[in-house]
Amino acid sequence: MARKKKATKKVVKKKKTVKKAIKKTVKKKKNVSKKVVKKTTKKTSNNIKKPISSITKSLKNDSIVQQQFVKNGQLALQTVRGMRDVLPGDQAYWQQIRKIFEKRSIEYGFSRIDTPIIELESLFAKAIGEDTDIINSELYTFNAKSGDKVALRPELTASVVRAYIQHGMTILPKPIKLFSMGPVYRYDKPGEGRYREFHQAEFNIFGEDDAILDAQVMQIAYRVLRSLGIKNIQFRVNSIGTAESRKEYLKLLTAYFRSKKSKLPSKYRDMINTNPMRIFDAKDDKCMQVCAGAPQAIDHLDKESREHFKNLLEYLDELDLSYIIDSRLVRGLDYYTRTVFEISVADEQGLRHSLGGGGRFDELVELFGGEPTPAIGFAFGIDRLIMEMKRVKAKKYKESQPRVFLAQLGDLAKKKSLQLFADIEQSGILVAESFGRGALKAQLRYASKLGVDLTLIVGQQEALDDTVIVKNMITGTQETITKDKAVAFVKKNLKETAKLVKRK
Ligand code: AMP
Repeated sequence: MARKKKATKKVVKKKKTVKKAIKKTVKKKKNVSKKVVKKTTKKTSNNIKKPISSITKSLKNDSIVQQQFVKNGQLALQTVRGMRDVLPGDQAYWQQIRKIFEKRSIEYGFSRIDTPIIELESLFAKAIGEDTDIINSELYTFNAKSGDKVALRPELTASVVRAYIQHGMTILPKPIKLFSMGPVYRYDKPGEGRYREFHQAEFNIFGEDDAILDAQVMQIAYRVLRSLGIKNIQFRVNSIGTAESRKEYLKLLTAYFRSKKSKLPSKYRDMINTNPMRIFDAKDDKCMQVCAGAPQAIDHLDKESREHFKNLLEYLDELDLSYIIDSRLVRGLDYYTRTVFEISVADEQGLRHSLGGGGRFDELVELFGGEPTPAIGFAFGIDRLIMEMKRVKAKKYKESQPRVFLAQLGDLAKKKSLQLFADIEQSGILVAESFGRGALKAQLRYASKLGVDLTLIVGQQEALDDTVIVKNMITGTQETITKDKAVAFVKKNLKETAKLVKRK
């Protein structure tokens, strides 16, 4: 009996502490606007852990951390060169990108497709071409236990085309629009914005050769960039004709480069016979001088390709997209036919950064053994998009903020809160908690920091009575209600508070 009295005393005492803590937070809430500025510089309480994102944001110089691991002679705890972790601090950008891609792809009628990261090496060699940088020097290949020679995908198109044929999509009504997104691997020289594992998002349309679809994919690219807050967008466009019409042109080009062979740096001389168009991709000054006088594909197009290109330009004018015709734009992959384009942005210094590119691949399905199927597509480099979003301080994804916080005090209250939390969440209300923290004061401070409208408090007495205190953080009013009515009460109260906040 005496023990029971003591326990009740304790509960009463605790109840008083609950009231005291509430009073304090209400006071604080009133002063909240004054303190916002101060708070940002104030150290977070030891009880409340900083979110990981804010910690990882400060880990800018992670290379130093990595070097230390190596120095100590321990296991080298570092990413492989050219690969990186996407830390929590950057996730809001990724989330925003996923959101926009999902929105735009649904809007334009694209279905999502995901293909494996590993494919047979021969798939890429056949699609991209043996005499390209990607296949010659950048492909990650290895022998699987089965003996198959496999490769990490260096791009998405070849896999999407493989899947298109393998799953018989060719019988579906055209056009077939597929969206894909994921990591790709190239043993490239790592540098600013250049990684060995990077991410691409790709839009492909199968089954139509009308230039309006070329214009439409460029419009999608433009709209994605604008939705991400990226401006100063420019398209470079060109037409490289069909494989058939290129035959004559390639003869002329080969003859031209042969006549200038001595002026070309040695590493490009071999390309004259294997893939002369690739010389146009060189950034080397000497090469560019030689290329300036070379015959251009656009002057040697077949009649249909010329008409197709003319139509595309008319559509682009109609769409008011900013483009320039770049007759030296060929793109480094063998599968392109007719339209090729690149998307870039200019920075303050006027330097252009490539964000993506694409073109027609009208002959690739057939090359893989499928029915002749015209196709057009383009890929964005997601890592570059994020770099650009950061540069222009574009909007990041904002998680929806919880409107309710559930605080608890004591073991029994904690147990009861677990189910109450689930009930509130299941009713579709975003609710936050900090079950790991004991002190009510710290929990209420956290609730106030989150800016919730309602704080629910289950103290020891409430746990015994199966009740809950509902405190309105805007009006400062509070009520004790039975637990089984809590969800309905919270819903009603939130609605009323929303009106109140709007009126303000
Ligand atoms: P590509 O498939 O080479 O036409 O590249 C398409 C886009 O992917 C480029 O415009 C870049 O935005 C991006 N990209 C290409 N290579 C890399 C790389 N090594 N690291 C990061 N992004 C890349």
